[in-house]
Amino acid sequence: YKPLVAIVGRPNVGKSTLFNAIVKKRISIVEDIPGVTRDRIYYDAEWLNQEFTMIDTGGIEFVDSENHIFTSMRYQAELAIREADVILYVVDGKAGVQPQDEDIARILRSSGKPVILVVNKIDSVELSMNIYEFYSLGLGDPIGISAVNLMNLGDLLDEVLKHI
Ligand code: GDP
Ligand code: MG
Repeated sequence: YKPLVAIVGRPNVGKSTLFNAIVKKRISIVEDIPGVTRDRIYYDAEWLNQEFTMIDTGGIEFVDSENHIFTSMRYQAELAIREADVILYVVDGKAGVQPQDEDIARILRSSGKPVILVVNKIDSVELSMNIYEFYSLGLGDPIGISAVNLMNLGDLLDEVLKHI
């Protein structure tokens, strides 16, 4: 049994980029257009000799009765709550707090699962102030990272290990 670490968040916040950075292989597809991910969503990773499995819930899709493919953030969050040992809740530090972020935060807060609030797109020290508004989500101390610049991923993974 390997601990399961799930990545949850709105489209385009950088979930697949973070997933790739952690598993160090480009196996998720990163797209500029929200919702077009066709990822491999599970992958084994390790940090400091601790192995775990990552899930990018943004890659979970549904086909409805009319064959439309869609994603449901609520379902992705509920799946993460059910299956994961730790949830990485990723938000966009450039976009700021969005109404959908609050909806998902509410679901995650009531889950009782360990949730790490990850403010992505903090690409430079100048942007580091952008993390503070995310305290309003009620999920504790936000961790600012840049998935593209690989900034602060070590601190994030240290935090993950505290919960597994
Ligand atoms: P997902 O929909 O949450 O999986 O988001 P993606 O990983 O596909 O990324 C969406 C867009 O955000 C892409 O254009 C990425 O290059 C960009 N992106 C991801 N991480 C960062 C980051 O740390 N900084 C910046 N500036 N852009 C990022
Ligand atoms: Mg994605």
